[in-house]
Amino acid sequence: MSLELSIEFFPPQTTEGMEKLRTTVARLAVLRPEFFSVTYGAGGSTRDRTLAAVMEIAAAGHSAAPHLSCIGSTHDGVREMLVAFTERGIRRIVALRGDLPSGMNDAGEFRYANELVAFIRSETGDRFNIEVAAYPEWHPQARSPRDDLLNFKRKVDAGANSAITQYFYNADAYEHFVDQARALGVAVPIVPGIMPIANFSKLARFSDACGAEIPRWMRRKFESLGDDADSIRAFGLDVVTELCQRLIERGAPGLHFYSMNQAGLTLELCNRLGLGPARQAA
Ligand code: FAD
Repeated sequence: MSLELSIEFFPPQTTEGMEKLRTTVARLAVLRPEFFSVTYGAGGSTRDRTLAAVMEIAAAGHSAAPHLSCIGSTHDGVREMLVAFTERGIRRIVALRGDLPSGMNDAGEFRYANELVAFIRSETGDRFNIEVAAYPEWHPQARSPRDDLLNFKRKVDAGANSAITQYFYNADAYEHFVDQARALGVAVPIVPGIMPIANFSKLARFSDACGAEIPRWMRRKFESLGDDADSIRAFGLDVVTELCQRLIERGAPGLHFYSMNQAGLTLELCNRLGLGPARQAA
C-alpha cells in the first residue's frame, strides 16, 4: 500500500510571508503530497487569509485543503464558507472545533467538531472529503480517554473520511489509539501528525498547551544542548526519523507534516525515510 503524504501550513500575515509560502510549496511539491492544508485561526480570525493561501497553492497546480473551525461560528457563517469553497473548486476540508480565542465568550451555534461534520454533510452531501483531528495522547479537555475515543468515533460516524492526529513522540500512544479505534469499529485511515523539531523551547511551550507529551529522555537531552541550534536540529531529525520509520513499519497509512511553513526539515526527513524525490519519481 502506498504511503500518502500531506503537509500543513499556517496562513501568512504579510505579502512577504505569502511569497515565502509560494517558494516553500514549490520546494515541497517534489514530495508529491496528496494535499497541502492551511490552518484556520481561532474564531475565524484568518478566514480570508486561509482561503487566499489555499487558492495560491491550488493555482500552482496542487490539491489544497482549508482547515475550518466551528467554535464561535453560526450555521449561516459556516454555510457561507462552504459556498465559498464550492465556488473555488475546493474538495477537501479539515473540520475542527477549534478553541475560543481569549476574550471571546460566545461559543456560537456549534459545540463540537462532530456537529460541524454533520452540518457539512447535510449541506453539501459528499462534495467534500472531510478530515478530522484525533488525539493519541488524548485531548486535554477530554473527561476520560474512553470519552475522547467515543467522541472521535462520533466525528467519523457523522461522515469524516479520515483523521489526522495531534503530533506525538511516543509511537505506543498512536498504536494504542488506532487499536482502540479499530476495536470500536472505526475503519477510516488515521494518519499520524508529525512535528519536525527546529526550536525546542518553542516546542516545549506549545506542547504543554496542546497536551502533546515530550518524553523525559528527549526533554532532558534537548535541555542539555542549550542554544546549540545545529545539535538540536540534528538530534530532532534523528528522533523524528526513527519515529516515522516505526510508524511506517507498523502500517501507518500516511504522514501529515506540520511544516511551520518551512521546507527544510520536512524534506530532510522524507529523504532519510526514502520518501524523497527519488521515490516519488519512481
Ligand atoms: P472536538 O472533536 O470537538 O473535541 C474537543 C473536545 O470535546 C475533546 O475533549 C472531546 O473529547 C470533547 N467532545 C467532542 N465531542 C463531544 C461531544 N459530542 N460531547 C461531549 N464532548 C465532546 N485549531 C485551530 O484553531 N485551527 C486549525 O486550523 C487547527 N488545525 C488542527 C489540525 C489538526 C490535525 C489537529 C490535531 C488540531 C488542529 N487544531 C486547530 C486544534 C484543535 O482545534 C483543538 O485541539 C481543539 O481544542 C479541538 O478541536 P477538535 O476538532 O479536535 O474538537
